[in-house]
This record gives sequence, structure tokens and C-alpha cells, in this order.
Amino acid sequence: MKQKAKAVRYWYTYRCAPSSETRGRRPGHDLGCGATLVRSTKREIIGRERPQGSPCIKCKKRTRLHEGLVKEWFDPQDALLYASEENRLNDIDMPRNRGEQSGE
Ligand SMILES: [Zn+2]
Repeated sequence: MKQKAKAVRYWYTYRCAPSSETRGRRPGHDLGCGATLVRSTKREIIGRERPQGSPCIKCKKRTRLHEGLVKEWFDPQDALLYASEENRLNDIDMPRNRGEQSGE
């Protein structure tokens, strides 16, 4: 069934962090690198909506997102700015922006 694409997107920043799902995880594995990442979604991350993040640009880990983890933004520029600022403050050396979703 075809649906008209809606222009609305939700913008989030989140930290690439160790998984909070602790069942059977071994320490030293699956640790996030601490980078702040930007993700936009078509559906709001709320309640049971828990999409998987894109692989981290730095460590390739995919963090499962949930509302307790993400910070929501209305303006993608603000989100990107916040992320790069956080990474600078935390001394995260991000690879150069390759194809980051930056609008058009
Ligand atoms: Zn990472």
C-alpha cells in the first residue's frame, strides 16, 4: 500500500554508550565509544518505539534507542551542532563527516 511520504522527521542525539540491557553481557564487550551521534527518524521515539541506531561512525556499534537515552531536537542544525560540540568537549575524534544526514 502506498503512502504519501510525510515530511515530518524527528531528530535525536544520543550517546554511543554501553548497552543498558544487561542480560548476559560480558564487560569489555559491546562498550560504546562515547561519541554523540545524530539520528533522524520518521516515528517519534517514545514509549515502545525503540528503533535501532545506525552503526556508530566511530566504533560501528548499533545502539538501541529509547526515550530515556535520546535527546530530541526540533531543528536538525541544532542537533548536529550539539553533537559536534559534545564530541569536542569529550575529546572524541570523529571521522570527517561522510554523508551525514544533513538535509538536502
Ligand atoms: Zn561508538
